[in-house]
Amino acid sequence: MGKTERFGFVHGGGGGASSSRFPKRRRSSRRDLDESEFFEEEEVPTVERQAPEQETRATDSGGGGGGGKGNRTGDLLKHFNNGPVTVTLNDPEVLDCPVCYEPLNIPVYQCGNGHVVCHRCCCDLMNKCPSCRLPNGHSRSTAMEKVIESIQVACENADYGCKEKMSYSEKYDHGRACHYTPCSCPLAACNFVGSFHQIYQHFRGVHKHAAEEFVYDKVLRITLSVHHDLIILQEEKNGDLFILNNSTEPDGYRISVNCIAPSCKGGVVYSIVAKSGGAVYEFNSCTKSIQNWDENNPPSVASLLVPSDFFGSYGQLHLGVRIQHPRK
Ligand SMILES: [Zn+2]
Ligand SMILES: [Zn+2]
Ligand SMILES: [Zn+2]
Ligand SMILES: [Zn+2]
Repeated sequence: MGKTERFGFVHGGGGGASSSRFPKRRRSSRRDLDESEFFEEEEVPTVERQAPEQETRATDSGGGGGGGKGNRTGDLLKHFNNGPVTVTLNDPEVLDCPVCYEPLNIPVYQCGNGHVVCHRCCCDLMNKCPSCRLPNGHSRSTAMEKVIESIQVACENADYGCKEKMSYSEKYDHGRACHYTPCSCPLAACNFVGSFHQIYQHFRGVHKHAAEEFVYDKVLRITLSVHHDLIILQEEKNGDLFILNNSTEPDGYRISVNCIAPSCKGGVVYSIVAKSGGAVYEFNSCTKSIQNWDENNPPSVASLLVPSDFFGSYGQLHLGVRIQHPRK
């Protein structure tokens, strides 16, 4: 409760404000569900309808306008009947199945008392209503299906630049694939959060000297000290950010490269060559996309294990790092 979400209705409904009664909600696993909890009920906040400002003003100012008022009211009604409207839903969970808590998707079933349930749960519960135990049969909740069909929600990453709008049930799938998923600046002392594009620009603008610049497909030669936990790499042309991580282990040092990016961005192939005296270690792998870099808890990924004596008497190791262009 307390979660508020703004929705756009694709087709304006004919009715006014409405309220519904749904079983009391508690986020829990399906196994935790107790029969008694479905019989407790609480009021769900009303769905508010808001007409666009200009239409509201037209009606207000038309108070003393005689015949003109009728036309403006007619326009307003026409707008409500045909055009999209914006609503604020104080409890978006009313659009979730009360049993599995997944977003309701068509078909939606209901019992004789109007309690809704998703198709999968309806089958799992042998067509018995989880709220009142009346049979669900195969009664479809066409009213709820119309609501679900008509609602569009903005992406939860709208503040970071995503302009996508989608049905409520597609929201979670989109969230997993959204390229605007926020990432944190990899420097622990900086609190900047933004989409990966914003992070790349931010890093170049604010921390330019904290990164080693590299070019895709070309070998970058760097000197890694035993005291370096990480070296930040920024691609010269498009600003992509990578972290070369150096973790101390009992048997040496583990070195890997990972990318600051949303998880929907696939990994990038890279190679590391470490030389010491006549010995050469070569390592090929694929980066992992990281949104929040935690230097105390680096990701568990494949890495190059370099023996401690490779670092030489000055505690330094010469590396060649090559990151392949993501389009290859
Ligand atoms: Zn369900
Ligand atoms: Zn019922
Ligand atoms: Zn998005
Ligand atoms: Zn920063």
